[in-house]
Amino acid sequence: MTNKQKKIVVVSNRVPYKIVRIKESIKYKKSVGGLVTALDPILSKKGGLWAGWNGLVGKQKYAEQTVEMEGGYSVKFLGLSRQDVKDFYHGFSNRTIWPLFHGFIFQSFFDLNYWDSYKNINQYFADKILEEVKGDEVLWIQDYHLMLVPSLLRKALPGSKILFFLHIPFPSFEIFRVLPWNKMILEGLMGADVLGFQTKGDARNFLYNCSRALGMPVDYDTGRLDRGDRPVHVKNFPISIDFKKFDSLAKAISTNNRVRLFKREHKNQKFIISVERLDYTKGIKERLLSIKRFFEKYPEYKKRVIFVQVSVPSRTKITEYRHFKREIDQLVGNINGQFADELWTPINYIYKTIPQEILISYYKASDVCLVTPLRDGMNLIAKEYVSCNPDGDGMLVLSRFAGSADEMQKNSIMVNPYDFEGVADGIKAALEMSRNEKRKNMAALRKIVQENDVFNWANQFLNYSIER
Ligand code: UDP
Repeated sequence: MTNKQKKIVVVSNRVPYKIVRIKESIKYKKSVGGLVTALDPILSKKGGLWAGWNGLVGKQKYAEQTVEMEGGYSVKFLGLSRQDVKDFYHGFSNRTIWPLFHGFIFQSFFDLNYWDSYKNINQYFADKILEEVKGDEVLWIQDYHLMLVPSLLRKALPGSKILFFLHIPFPSFEIFRVLPWNKMILEGLMGADVLGFQTKGDARNFLYNCSRALGMPVDYDTGRLDRGDRPVHVKNFPISIDFKKFDSLAKAISTNNRVRLFKREHKNQKFIISVERLDYTKGIKERLLSIKRFFEKYPEYKKRVIFVQVSVPSRTKITEYRHFKREIDQLVGNINGQFADELWTPINYIYKTIPQEILISYYKASDVCLVTPLRDGMNLIAKEYVSCNPDGDGMLVLSRFAGSADEMQKNSIMVNPYDFEGVADGIKAALEMSRNEKRKNMAALRKIVQENDVFNWANQFLNYSIER
């Protein structure tokens, strides 16, 4: 069988289906995330399996079943106990790796129980996949929860095609070597034949870590790592979105009606939007302080500008996230209290998940999108915003620390999110940019996202991997 004909096995922390119980029967509801959009057609065409956690805490009843789905591939649901969720998921994945890989050393917990659980769950995932595969499939492991799985699979299937993609940044040597188990993670990842990262910088960081921590010969030009027994290929593949879907939804009559209504209610006011999970890596606090600075420095914009801050509840079981929410609530309150009058409130703070069609209307109605993470693997909001701007009247203000800056910096207003003065000036520049210039920038950005959509991402990664 040629590599191109092989079945695909995707392994990610969560499977793309939710288990829904309706009375006595069980239904499977497909999720709508970007990765599912990208991989679903590929899996349907080639056949195969998607394995991952069923998302339930301690409900082993629905665990470890393999279900043939309508799309033409199977899904294997894996179960985690309450303790696994605490130590592996909330613990090592989201309190150790997540902060460290985003450069937040002092927010990372180095707890031996977390690490033990991470090793055990990675082994559990690998064992369960091995029950399902013959070894002639392409095995594609996703993200930071499963960085030991490639080498665990490699031990059992030395000749198999094993691929890995990291959706978050990979840290520099100075940061990564702080992790007591750094070498084990590098070894775990190197079980793959191909390692994909979001940006060139992430790929380079990985290579440099291998060279310094493991003394491995690396070629930075080709991205080739020499382990002696077999090569490992390291390359950047920036993830993206389904441009066509966002573009056509943005042009839909229902969207236009919503936008018209919105604008009618806020005549003579400009909208600036920010959207993200409520996460400390997203720069929400710094953004709010920049907005405060904006109104202090440019008071002529009072009453004329409204910031819409959409914060999606996230990881609320983790203490740091709960504290962070309190801090943001307070800051929004302080700023609104300082600047508002009886008819105008500067920050419209929405703490909930927004249905996609509403989100698309928000994007389309906004004059500026403010994307200012302190660090972000990619940031899809920036790409979604430009896809929802067919008229080209919007403008993107983008953090230079977002992965998407690599592709989008030329036609956005670039800012350093820690520089409140600079962000305030960036907002003003975006608001005052001529219509002509905005349209030129937006057309260029839309072309970039259109030509590099999420389907291209998946195909490019797979084609590159299959040729190696
Ligand atoms: N999103 C959503 N509902 C919301 C707000 C955001 O579904 O109320 C989606 C948004 O459309 C985007 C994703 O969440 O596709 C955020 O992806 P991103 O890469 O920016 O950040 P992540 O949350 O993965 O760190």
